[in-house]
Amino acid sequence: MKTLKIAIQKSGRLNEKSVELLKNCGLSFENYKSSLISSVSNFPLEILFLRDDDIPEYVQDGIADIGIVGENVIQETQVEVAYLQRLGFGKCKLKLAVPVDSSIKTVKDLEGKAIATSYPNILKNFLTKESINADIKMISGSVEIAPGLGLSDAIFDIVSTGGTLKNNGLKPFHDVISSEAILIGRKGEEDEELIQELIQRIQSVLRAKD
Ligand code: ATP
Ligand code: ZN
Repeated sequence: MKTLKIAIQKSGRLNEKSVELLKNCGLSFENYKSSLISSVSNFPLEILFLRDDDIPEYVQDGIADIGIVGENVIQETQVEVAYLQRLGFGKCKLKLAVPVDSSIKTVKDLEGKAIATSYPNILKNFLTKESINADIKMISGSVEIAPGLGLSDAIFDIVSTGGTLKNNGLKPFHDVISSEAILIGRKGEEDEELIQELIQRIQSVLRAKD
């Protein structure tokens, strides 16, 4: 491997922290907002700025060698990648929530109910494990308004502070997964010299933060 390629989020909640982490690793690059690729001048690395949802697949397909993405996205895309390093930012939880006056109190009460989510695969796996039959309503955004509109009895969504749930008259009743940003790579390539060098640098940055 002559030049390593890393995929990070182009804009959104993980962009700034991903850029900051790479800069703290001593890497010099222009953080072009308008272009897709930026070259690092003092390390054989190219940075690809992408939508977070595409990052696991780009890594699996070899377009990028490594990437920074939320564990929630990795699990939802069901792409097999290697977890190289947990990064400690972008922390959130995927929770089940219902309207405050709902009769649904436990996971078992979801039997036969409709649940709105942008994470149908993670939800499906969870419901299968719990032996619950429920109707999964896939919606791509603003999941928290679904119960109020009569589309669903419950929601399964990403929560960091809980403010959005509260503002929509919802309360969480079960945490399904915790997530944070992860450095991912392809299985079997973990020992590549450039990847190891970058992981070492990232680990020193993370240690300095503790
Ligand atoms: P993109 O345009 O890249 O598809 P997006 O809108 O899907 O972006 P963001 O909202 O920027 O994604 O969130 C990126 C990641 O940040 C999430 O996948 C998750 O891992 C993490 N995250 C942390 N807290 C939250 C939160 N409160 N809401 C949503 N995502 C969060
Ligand atoms: Zn996305």
